[in-house]
Amino acid sequence: MSTRKILIKGGTVLTFQKGSLVCEELDILVENDKISNIEKNISIPDVEEISANGMIVSPGLIDTHRHLWETAFKGTASNWTLMEYLNGMLGDIAPKMGPLDVYLGNLLGALEAINSGITTIFDWSHVMNSDEHAEAAIRALRDSGIRAKFGYGTPGTSVWEWFYESKNPHPQNAYDIKKKYFSSENELVTMALAIRGPEYSDLEIAKQDIEMGRDLGLQISMHIGGGVFGPKYKGVQKLDQLGLLGPDLNFAHGNTLSDADFCLLADHGCTLSITPEVELQMGLGLPATGKALKHNLTSGLGVDVVTATSGNLFDQMKTALQTERAIQNEKNYKRGDMSQQVALRDVDIFKMATIDGAKTLGMDQYIGSLEVGKQADIILIDIQKLGTAPSFNPLSSMVLYAKEHDVDTVIIAGNIVKQGGKITYQTTHELILECQVNATKIMGQLTSKTAVKNQ
Ligand SMILES: [Zn+2]
Repeated sequence: MSTRKILIKGGTVLTFQKGSLVCEELDILVENDKISNIEKNISIPDVEEISANGMIVSPGLIDTHRHLWETAFKGTASNWTLMEYLNGMLGDIAPKMGPLDVYLGNLLGALEAINSGITTIFDWSHVMNSDEHAEAAIRALRDSGIRAKFGYGTPGTSVWEWFYESKNPHPQNAYDIKKKYFSSENELVTMALAIRGPEYSDLEIAKQDIEMGRDLGLQISMHIGGGVFGPKYKGVQKLDQLGLLGPDLNFAHGNTLSDADFCLLADHGCTLSITPEVELQMGLGLPATGKALKHNLTSGLGVDVVTATSGNLFDQMKTALQTERAIQNEKNYKRGDMSQQVALRDVDIFKMATIDGAKTLGMDQYIGSLEVGKQADIILIDIQKLGTAPSFNPLSSMVLYAKEHDVDTVIIAGNIVKQGGKITYQTTHELILECQVNATKIMGQLTSKTAVKNQ
């Protein structure tokens, strides 16, 4: 098989390499799925050249927590609290989802992510109403071309049975799903287990689910520290008392965890996914960005639900950054001081969206930075456009100004999936229409309570 070579020339490479930030004009050579060279003025024959003049060349962004199937219901939850969301989305909409609905939502969501420069996503899929639903979700991820961890969750058939101190163990079908769809290594889509954990299931069930995830050899993700559920269930302390904390556990949110909880998570090498925009809206508490950094807890960012927030990671970077600054500024103000410096810097957030996001998903050996030998997950951001130009600081261009329409090129494992500002997936328009028709049918079947809430 011949080697496909892509040369990205003339851009400003912005990445962490071995813990240090690199920001300079360099060329990048991609051979098949990997980065084979990074240096100034690479010149070789027989290569597909991409000009990156006037652009930032960055590692693909990593979304560590999103429920992709909900993409079909964009805007539904724009005025919802967490409890309204749980009852409306999981209680009312999820039971009505068929496999095709899951496929359409997942595919549209994955393409939306790619279009905005996200090259890896953790799809936390809690609509596993049947094995066909799981197959549809996995097929959509594969069809999109994105790199993903498919988080196999519980059925969405009844939020009352499967959440809220549920006594139902995680479906054993996880074993069949792994055997059937994830038997080979080095695939773009790999598997994880998306469990309810101590805030949404009985503690004994949480223990059994974690043990099952370990038996399967999968990363295990759960929601924790969301609003009053944090202090009420003391989930981190309970898991610690059972000796269950470990580096294979990923927690989403963590807003209302205590300092002692953060110490426990960091000490055991657990990871945290912060989804700041929806946390602010739905009443989960203030985003834990600063606390996580203070405790050296490996953390990444996530969109969580596009039913209430935008699907790009730029908005999450900016929300996390400015919220943490506001929290610290307010503390200083209350002491009668003006802040002498901002609490968090653009570089900290860029790190969370790239290499620390990869660490959060246990994938930093091969993604999250632009380094020779790593997978070619690369994005080009145009910084010579209205909205991004002039650019005196590539970091602030990435964190504060860029949006999906500034993402010129997206490469995942050496495959070009967006070029010249256009996604290469051929039938996006038809997909949008089909998704809308199917979602409209489901919306028409909702109970009056949920329907009224959408007005
Ligand atoms: Zn979530």
